[in-house]
This record gives sequence, C-alpha cells and structure tokens, in this order.
Amino acid sequence: TSGSKGRTKPSVKMTFEDIGGQDSAKKELVEALDFLIKHEEIKKFGIRPLKGILLTGPPGTGKTLLAKASASYTNSVFMSAAGSEFVEMYVGVGASRIRDLFKEARTRAEKEKKDSAIIFIDEIDVIGGKRDGGQQREYDQTLNQLLTEMDGMHTSTSPRILIMAATNRKEMLDSALLRPGRFDRHIQVDLPDKKGRLHILNIHAKNKPLAENISLDKIAQEAYNFSGAQLESLMNEAAIYAMRDNQTTIEQRHMSLAVDKVLMGEKTDRESTR
Ligand code: ATP
Repeated sequence: TSGSKGRTKPSVKMTFEDIGGQDSAKKELVEALDFLIKHEEIKKFGIRPLKGILLTGPPGTGKTLLAKASASYTNSVFMSAAGSEFVEMYVGVGASRIRDLFKEARTRAEKEKKDSAIIFIDEIDVIGGKRDGGQQREYDQTLNQLLTEMDGMHTSTSPRILIMAATNRKEMLDSALLRPGRFDRHIQVDLPDKKGRLHILNIHAKNKPLAENISLDKIAQEAYNFSGAQLESLMNEAAIYAMRDNQTTIEQRHMSLAVDKVLMGEKTDRESTR
C-alpha cells in the first residue's frame, strides 16, 4: 500500500499485480484459491475442501501482501492477526481471541454479503511451535483452539473460511498443524531473483520521479539477495537522497547510495542483536 491513504483505508485493494516477482508462489496460490471459488465443483468430485495454506520464507518477501491479494482475488473478507499478539496473555485469553477472530470473520462476511473469509495469521510459529510434552506451554490452549476451529470449519456452510498463515521457520511447527485437512498446502515465498527484483523496483518507483537515463536493471543487479521489503526501502532512501541533494529527479548515484544504506542498516541491525 502506498501513501497515507493506506493507513486510514485498510480496504485499499491489494492485487497480485501489485506484487513483484514471486511468479511460482502466485501461480500455486491461484490454483489453490480456485478450490475456494469452485467449491460446488470440488464437492462433486468428492475433493476435501481446502482449509489452510501455509506461506513459508524469509521476512519481507511479500507473504502478507500475498494473503491480502488472495482476499481480493476470491472476493473474501480479510482479517489478520500475528502470533506475537498472543504473547503474554493470561491463560485462556489467547484461545478466546482465536474464537473471536473466527466469529468476527463470520459476522463481517454476513454484513458485507461475501460468501468467504480469509483469516491471515502471521508468525504462526509463535503459537504453533512444537509441543514437546513435559514443558508447560502457555500457548497450548491458543493452538488447540485454532485446531478446533479449523476442524469445525464446514466449507459447505457460508461463509467458507480459509486460514492463511506465514512463518520463516516451518521446521519449528507442531506436526498437528501440518496434518491433512489443516495446513496441508505449503507455498514457498523466496527472495526474488534479478527479474523479480526489477519488477519490485518498478512497482515502488511508480510514484517517484526518476531521471530519464536511470537503469533500474543495474540496481536490480546490485541489490543481490535483497528482499521485497528492502527494495521498497531502497527506493524510498534513493528519493530521500535526491531530495536532500536538491534535485528534481532521482539519479543513478542516489540509487547506488541507497543500496549501500540499506545494506549498512541491515548490518548494524544484525550486530546490535548479537
Ligand atoms: P514478514 O515475514 O516480515 O511478515 P512478509 O513476507 O509478510 O514479511 P510483507 O509484509 O508482505 O512481507 O512485505 C513488507 C513490505 O515490503 C510490503 O509492504 C511491500 O512494500 C514490500 N514488499 C515485499 N515483497 C514485495 C513484493 N514481492 N512486491 C512488492 N513489494 C514487496
């Protein structure tokens, strides 16, 4: 989302066209989402309805954007929560928050006359980490409630609900979450390749004055291993450099400085968390 409008109007539609790169993730996602749309057809074939999609991959690669775009694509109500929001809650509060989330999804779908809802849970590993027996786990009830809700979801009754979840640490997840009928579709969302980086740079350059002779291709090359979030930040930093430089357009050197700035920022972040 761009500009201040995004903040006050969360309903600004995010579509797959607003997401750069991630071609295979988008393709797999659309195939899965068609199951939600063609529910009558899949019922005829006796296919088990899709309840959960897990997006896995490094931070800042567009998992949240993909979940939002999925809601637009399927004309669903979109609700989101993050695993970390359930941290430090009194016993039972997490579970009731999960219950409320599902209840609200149903109410909103009814109010907005939509026959499906997507609930996105970011950082699912926080509540869905492996339960290793002996240890007292404060999130067990939260996770159990989520599993109960998923098991109780009847895709024949309206609204149909789809849970999308994201994690950078799939290997940490409790196997109960990954069982068939729960999060049994996994979509890998990787760091973009050069073509993807160029696509993302172009998306975030749309509202910015670029010098005519600028080569975003060259920047895409330089920004090796950058995530989408870092590329967004790179474009923003370049604009700041250009403005401070009293220029009317963003020039190549501003972009190069911004590459270094983003790289350096990452380094200091990592050092300070060591
Ligand atoms: P996290 O794991 O940290 O929650 P995420 O994978 O959910 O990250 P997003 O929140 O979707 O990442 O992306 C953060 C921001 O980075 C977006 O708001 C957008 O500005 C930019 N961004 C990330 N990926 C892309 C992309 N593929 N195309 C365009 N912009 C992107």
